[in-house]
Amino acid sequence: MSPESIPQPERGLEGGPDTGPRNVELDRQNPDLLAPPETDAGTLPNLKFQALDDGVEFLLVFDDGEFSENSTFMISDFFAHTPKSVIAKNFGWSPEHLDRLPEREKYIFAGQVPPPLERDQVVSPTGDVPRSFKHRLLAQEPEHFNGGRARVADSTNFAASDTISAALVEIEPGGLRELHWHPTDDEWQYYISGRGRMGVFASSGQNRTFDYQAGDVGYVPFAFGHYVENTGSEPLVFLEMFRNPKFEDISLSQWMANTPPQVAADTLNLPRRVVESIPKTKTRITA
Ligand code: MN
Repeated sequence: MSPESIPQPERGLEGGPDTGPRNVELDRQNPDLLAPPETDAGTLPNLKFQALDDGVEFLLVFDDGEFSENSTFMISDFFAHTPKSVIAKNFGWSPEHLDRLPEREKYIFAGQVPPPLERDQVVSPTGDVPRSFKHRLLAQEPEHFNGGRARVADSTNFAASDTISAALVEIEPGGLRELHWHPTDDEWQYYISGRGRMGVFASSGQNRTFDYQAGDVGYVPFAFGHYVENTGSEPLVFLEMFRNPKFEDISLSQWMANTPPQVAADTLNLPRRVVESIPKTKTRITA
């Protein structure tokens, strides 16, 4: 599809042009909603949430869907809503220290530039935290596959992350995050760059296909089969995130390859030698 063309709800000889009114830019971002692959069927919920216009500068991931960043607090707000007598008692401060405390929350405000961190760092007599709360994912050596790379961070290499696991996935143009599912939890995705398509299979003959681009959020309900294909000309980079201490995925091909082959051969009307030639190790991203 060229950038000038107007996508239509047509698949082969089926469908016909939509005369509008239309949001053509939105349709260009979502060709699989406009003209779904013929394998799509049923009434799956929406699993795509549109990009914010300006993207994001940081991403907060909580392990509780009821929690929001509005439930984090500013200490200036805490001070403003605590009786001064309690503050004085808590810190052992005299009343004159309390006169200039902010009367309400301070959010973004001017302050003095602090000295360099190495001069201003406090050494706690109780030592550092035993498990670091910081993990540099990009400093981690990726797992390499035919069609891209993946870096997994979970409690096995980032001990403090004992309720959330994640994978940073990079898929080369034309590559595919293989058909798989997760045995532990729902998957939440954030698309960082590139363009991709995800097909989600919900069993009982139901499947739905969504298109994603940088800034979009994707979602895969627990145990639904899915794949993510790079449909663009740039690498597709996205995060897979789970509310689980351990990242776990089940590869359809690895699972089939390690099952007695005649069963899969008969189930899929395939020659036995084709089933036997499936790699027995996991290939998360194929070319
Ligand atoms: Mn997945």
